[in-house]
Amino acid sequence: MSTLQELLEYQKADGELRKIEQELAASDARKKSLQARNFIKNAESRIAAQDKRALELKALRDELIARVDETAKAIAEYADIDEIVEGGGDVSFYKKNAQQLSERLRAVKAELARLTAEVESLTAEYKKMMEQGKQMNRQYKEYAEKYKEVQASRAKEVAAINARLEEIGKNIPSEILEKYKQKRREKIFPVLVPLSGDMCVCGMDLPLAQRGRLAGGNVIECENCHRFIYKA
Ligand SMILES: [Zn+2]
Repeated sequence: MSTLQELLEYQKADGELRKIEQELAASDARKKSLQARNFIKNAESRIAAQDKRALELKALRDELIARVDETAKAIAEYADIDEIVEGGGDVSFYKKNAQQLSERLRAVKAELARLTAEVESLTAEYKKMMEQGKQMNRQYKEYAEKYKEVQASRAKEVAAINARLEEIGKNIPSEILEKYKQKRREKIFPVLVPLSGDMCVCGMDLPLAQRGRLAGGNVIECENCHRFIYKA
């Protein structure tokens, strides 16, 4: 058999392998274990972001509490305002100051309340995510196990096809086979396609000079989709 014929045989067997791979990938066990794994992976970065925010909030809260204390102390100093007034102080000036301080205290307290609400919602979110995380961990374990069973149920078929691929592969020059395998890894399939009119299956036009090189079972690579083109 010519190399082209061997390659086509190889591709035929490879197509059966690919079909099994697709069926495995589409299995419920695979989908559910992947879903759980992705959740767990995302959760890690979300938890890191939440931890960072929690630290920021704690620092803000400490700062606000210090400001409340400070303002409350300043207000307390006005407790002896009567003495100040008796001592000849300007009442309106002190009153204004005391009023400003109470306003500031109110504002800081409101800010603190907002912050507390954010901390609470962050805590609730965190708790919910931990619960989901536990559930997803269970799902992952369960379906990863099931997926192994699904894979095992096809293992014999896969081994038989692989043995056949190896057998056919012996008749194909290794550099050509390596190129084929590389394309397959790049999710190109079928790797070999027949010339269709003057075009590749992807619609790329092939100039006459290139088509001329197809004679005698030669293959050329499509510049557009990178498939191997042969003349049927
Ligand atoms: Zn093409």
